[in-house]
Amino acid sequence: MRHIDTVIIGAGQAGLAASHELTRRGHEHVVLERSAVGERWLGRRWDSQTLLTPNWMTRLPGHRYAGPHPDRFMSTAEFATLLRDYARGFAAPVESGVTVEALRFRGGWLEVSSTSGLRRARNVIIATGWCDVPARPAEATRLHPSIHSITPDRYRNPASLPAGGVLVVGASATGVQLADELRRAGRRVVLAVGGHLRLPRRYRGADIMEWLDLMGSLDRRIDDMPDPVAALREPSMQLVGGELRTIDLPSLAAHGVELVGRFVGADGRAAHFDAGLRDRVAAADRRMHRTLDRIDRVIDRDRLDVAAASRPVPFIPPEAPASVDLVGGGIRTVIWASGYRRDYRWLPPGVLDAHGELRHRYGVTELPGLMALGLRFQRTRRSSLIDGVGADAAMVAELAHARASASLTA
Ligand SMILES: Cc1cc2nc3c(=O)[nH]c(=O)nc-3n(C[C@H](O)[C@H](O)[C@H](O)COP(=O)(O)OP(=O)(O)OC[C@H]3O[C@@H](n4cnc5c(N)ncnc54)[C@H](O)[C@@H]3O)c2cc1C
Repeated sequence: MRHIDTVIIGAGQAGLAASHELTRRGHEHVVLERSAVGERWLGRRWDSQTLLTPNWMTRLPGHRYAGPHPDRFMSTAEFATLLRDYARGFAAPVESGVTVEALRFRGGWLEVSSTSGLRRARNVIIATGWCDVPARPAEATRLHPSIHSITPDRYRNPASLPAGGVLVVGASATGVQLADELRRAGRRVVLAVGGHLRLPRRYRGADIMEWLDLMGSLDRRIDDMPDPVAALREPSMQLVGGELRTIDLPSLAAHGVELVGRFVGADGRAAHFDAGLRDRVAAADRRMHRTLDRIDRVIDRDRLDVAAASRPVPFIPPEAPASVDLVGGGIRTVIWASGYRRDYRWLPPGVLDAHGELRHRYGVTELPGLMALGLRFQRTRRSSLIDGVGADAAMVAELAHARASASLTA
């Protein structure tokens, strides 16, 4: 049995940020990664995908973007390379191809059982990703067997799908991008729209992320949110990087994407949708205008010399059908862009809540030494973003280091 101060599970940006912070403190640790550094951004993304956050927002502990295009968006492959170089830069102790299979607390140690054997650790930092496993609604199984059903991590490009139409379920960042790409490739596209966050890519001469950063929206803490449960379920912003276009429901509808309500079920040939499309679109528009109003107030307050306000057009979607005959309508593929879940089956049930999520406060669980990073709203709205994990990693690393030092002096 090997003993070690800290085991980090997962070598994405969160695990590497924690490793950087522990390395800086001279703290003994290992990063166990079931795949390889950066793999999440290579094998699980589609070909044309870029980051949604501009290059200047790829800030990690000890790393700042220093290239010539801070306002552009790197491809996911470029970000994978960045992560690999980052890990190499401070010789992160990553063991690739090692899956953690179980964890338990025994005799004051956290026992980590993995495909490379058993380790006893003072601390374990879970950095396995908020977007670990693509989620499909339970009704997804009721589709006609002839329909190809995939999650976005399996999608590569329009040519990789069977010929014919596509139903995309989910209209957040991923769903709208895939709907747009497939429609441009000449496919019939039906887009099922649940709750979503509409925002223009650029507003008053700056990227929307720059305004959100400046206004402190990304630094809002979970404790400050009027409804923390709803905040945790907040969908991703309807944004696309790459060509600096705004992709939203009006632009998709104008290009011939058929908008329908939230997917509520299927019975073989047909898929069914709720009647909430117009209300949801109206709610998203009201929320967008509230955000843009706040930006306008900051501009007025600080007398910023920026472009005049030009608001996105109001949108009332056309009447939507309650059902679509997928088989009869030539729809051969369904893409479930309906969010992600965590797989914590390897954790002791005591650390999970009734929904199978980690019980924690700012990433610190009730089990001594067990912490997490990269969770949605772990501390702030920024926590699950590339740009936000650094501050949380510093806090978690400090706690881990203090615990290990205390156990030495005890
Ligand atoms: C489609 C998509 C686009 C996104 N775009 C952006 C963006 O543009 N900008 C931005 O700031 N954020 C973006 N995000 C959000 C966030 O930055 C990513 O989800 C990011 O991958 C999270 O990093 P992470 O380190 O927390 O987790 P991950 O990158 O998911 O890394 C977790 C790692 O843990 C490993 N792992 C999991 N379980 C085990 C186990 N049991 N044993 C060993 N290893 C394990 C996995 O193999 C993986 O490498 C995006 C998310 C998605 C899903």
